[in-house]
Amino acid sequence: MRLLLSALLGCAVGASLNAQITVRASTMLDGKGGVRRNVRLTIEGSKIVRVDADSKGLVSYDLTGLTLMPGWIDTHVHVNGHFNKDGRADNRGESPAEFALRTEGTLWDTLQAGFTTVRSVGANSDKEPRDLIADGILPGPRILTSLATFNEHSGTPEQIREKVRERVAQGADVIKLFATASSRDGGAQTMSDAQIEAACSEAKALGRPAAVHAHASGGAKPAVLSGCTSIEHGTFLTDEVLDLMAQHGVYLDPNLSNVPNYINHKQAFLGLGNYTEQGFVEMAKDLPIRFQLIQRAMARKVMIVFGTDAVAGLPGHNAEEFIMRVQDAKQPPMDAIISATSRAAESIGLGTKIGAIAPGMEADLVATEGNPIDDITSVRKVIFVMKGGKVYKNAAR
Ligand SMILES: [Zn+2]
Repeated sequence: MRLLLSALLGCAVGASLNAQITVRASTMLDGKGGVRRNVRLTIEGSKIVRVDADSKGLVSYDLTGLTLMPGWIDTHVHVNGHFNKDGRADNRGESPAEFALRTEGTLWDTLQAGFTTVRSVGANSDKEPRDLIADGILPGPRILTSLATFNEHSGTPEQIREKVRERVAQGADVIKLFATASSRDGGAQTMSDAQIEAACSEAKALGRPAAVHAHASGGAKPAVLSGCTSIEHGTFLTDEVLDLMAQHGVYLDPNLSNVPNYINHKQAFLGLGNYTEQGFVEMAKDLPIRFQLIQRAMARKVMIVFGTDAVAGLPGHNAEEFIMRVQDAKQPPMDAIISATSRAAESIGLGTKIGAIAPGMEADLVATEGNPIDDITSVRKVIFVMKGGKVYKNAAR
């Protein structure tokens, strides 16, 4: 009896260790520009092990008729961005439990919308959800975070270097600095060149990406020249700085969808900090400038990545950024998909792990009804989401 039981247990354990999941899809976008028809993926544990031409037969998940892509990556979110019980974008006065649960709600919405990885830039409170999701305790997208951020009040260049080392020791995945003011306040340079250079070069020395909030060229240029990896927003960048970004391989993350999000939820933000009537006027002016920015950046071969600046209201609607990129800024749809998959993964230092469908990559997958290459609004119709080999959504069609 004991022998039989151990044989059975052995078998069960062996089966679970070697359990394979198979996925069939009619169209596959591999995240690097490739398109394949009628494929069958084999997944073991968290990883894709094979991508084969489909042979009929049983599969674990039959996504016939859908378009399969690598899970999407949003390189600029704010994990703590949510509305409070009064519908305001203000988290002061929330109990720790309410703050945590509302945060988890937005992370769930983000994952259900097809985003399997987000980079939060960022707050110290990102650490717990990041670690709990990584441990499989909470469902949510994979999170990378800067923890706290840097600005003109962060000290002397030497103090900033020391603080960058501290952040990295505390577990920051990225360094985030505010090199210019908000666009609501005109977007002019705030940190000195020396402060920016200290933060960017120290991050580079420690092997961490540095994401730089910069609207004006004044804040962006020293960042580009001293080892930062991405310019966030970039509204007023000159052609000179765009050319430097292309030369230095610095990514541009233009963030379009946060503007309509603010405008659609104006009453939730109005009166908080610089969310004034004038601030809303300034923001509304940004959009056409950013559409032009994307055109200019593409013409200069700047690598554009996908980020939304998801504050309260945006999580779960991150895919609206794709639609604005294609419909308003005239980015080719395949380039928009690449910007949220392989290129985004490279920009955050995970290019060998996520962002593409290929053997050895993490099994992060999203499938949509309709093909976004033919109709970009298909990104709103997410039917299937897998992260690290685990299915989080498999909706009825
Ligand atoms: Zn932001």
